[in-house]
Amino acid sequence: MSELSCTPTLQGLLSYEDAVERLVAAARPLSGRLSVGLRDALGHVLAEPVVSSIDVPGWDYSAMDGYAVRAADCAVEGVELPVSQRVPAGASPDRLTPGTVARIFTGAPIPEGADSVVMQEVCEATENGVRINAQVEADSNIRRRGEDIAAGQEVVSAGTRLSPQHLGLAASVGVAELAVCRRPRVALFASGDELVMPGQPLAPGKIYNSNLFTATALLQALGCEVIDLGIVEDTLDATKAALKRGAQEADLVFASGGVSVGEEDHVKPAVEALGSLDMWKIAIRPGKPVAFGHVDGTPFIGSPGNPVSLFVTFLLFVRPFILRMQGRDDWRNGSMRVKADFDWPRPDKRREFHRARLTFDEAGLARLSVHPSRSSGVLSSVTWANGLAVIPEGQTIARGDDVSFLPFNELLT
Ligand code: AMP
Ligand code: MG
Repeated sequence: MSELSCTPTLQGLLSYEDAVERLVAAARPLSGRLSVGLRDALGHVLAEPVVSSIDVPGWDYSAMDGYAVRAADCAVEGVELPVSQRVPAGASPDRLTPGTVARIFTGAPIPEGADSVVMQEVCEATENGVRINAQVEADSNIRRRGEDIAAGQEVVSAGTRLSPQHLGLAASVGVAELAVCRRPRVALFASGDELVMPGQPLAPGKIYNSNLFTATALLQALGCEVIDLGIVEDTLDATKAALKRGAQEADLVFASGGVSVGEEDHVKPAVEALGSLDMWKIAIRPGKPVAFGHVDGTPFIGSPGNPVSLFVTFLLFVRPFILRMQGRDDWRNGSMRVKADFDWPRPDKRREFHRARLTFDEAGLARLSVHPSRSSGVLSSVTWANGLAVIPEGQTIARGDDVSFLPFNELLT
């Protein structure tokens, strides 16, 4: 254990919060940045804020198809006025002659001198112009200059992961290129002599390597570049070789399996031989042991090999670390409170992040169910689930109680 202070929990176990805080504190934001066009920017993390150099909209414009008027000219319902100009979107209108109206269309600039737009539905074309069958008030149906964005305003802040709406907003202020953080490079390997790659025949005693694929996709979902070091056999030399290569090529090395302290677990001695390692026992279930250290100065995180533990460890610990490397501030998990549709009669000393499924009944009310298996080997439970229910340590839950829920879709961005 490192000498950093931590909240004491069960017999020296680290609390979930302390483990996350330590990881986040150890993560160094990457320095590299690159310039990308808007079409290639989706999912990147913004390195420099987008600041608008213009007002949006750039001028007052009509929100309707209709007639631009001086409200004072049509204070009485049924007044008839000549049409002095036609202003389609994209036009540059003349000043409005008093006592006349301008035919105008949605998005077109309001002529100087006009102070209101009357929608065409209440107007009638006549021989001499147009009759306005409404009492017109000033300031109707006009969108004002700068109503959306003022020149000089920051519209997207650094550290934002770019979604389609951010790209639209950047385009709306005329910005075509964005400065983004370079993608974190994460080297990944899976330890275990029992592992076989999918597509290969399965010999007795072997299992398919699912973790490599779960972890690759999790990393890709967060915008990382994956360096796939494949399966690493359960020997000290092979583990050291994989760690060395990963540390050389990547910003983070992530390993599945082999982090226990059994005879066949070589990650601990291998990392210790090349750098330093803390073996954390965290007061949660699943995912109690997590290894964090450095190899030749490159951070290393090791997860248990059980497929559910790997998935949960990634979401709870690896994700915040990667988000901080990307310069993101939104690494805290957003949870929601929902009504339990289950009973949890036996309290546990550790906090449980249990696979759970949020559904909605016919009335649209949310209900949360939990998967019957607590085994961290049952991978089908993570596709059944759409998030994690947080069962606090030492607590029972009765149907109808409020429970915290972490939706997967929030944790995969
Ligand atoms: P370990 O953490 O190496 O002790 O592995 C714990 C359990 O997870 C064992 O049952 C392993 O067979 C299983 N396991 C380890 N690595 C993987 C993997 N890459 N894919 C699927 N299961 C794994
Ligand atoms: Mg193993």
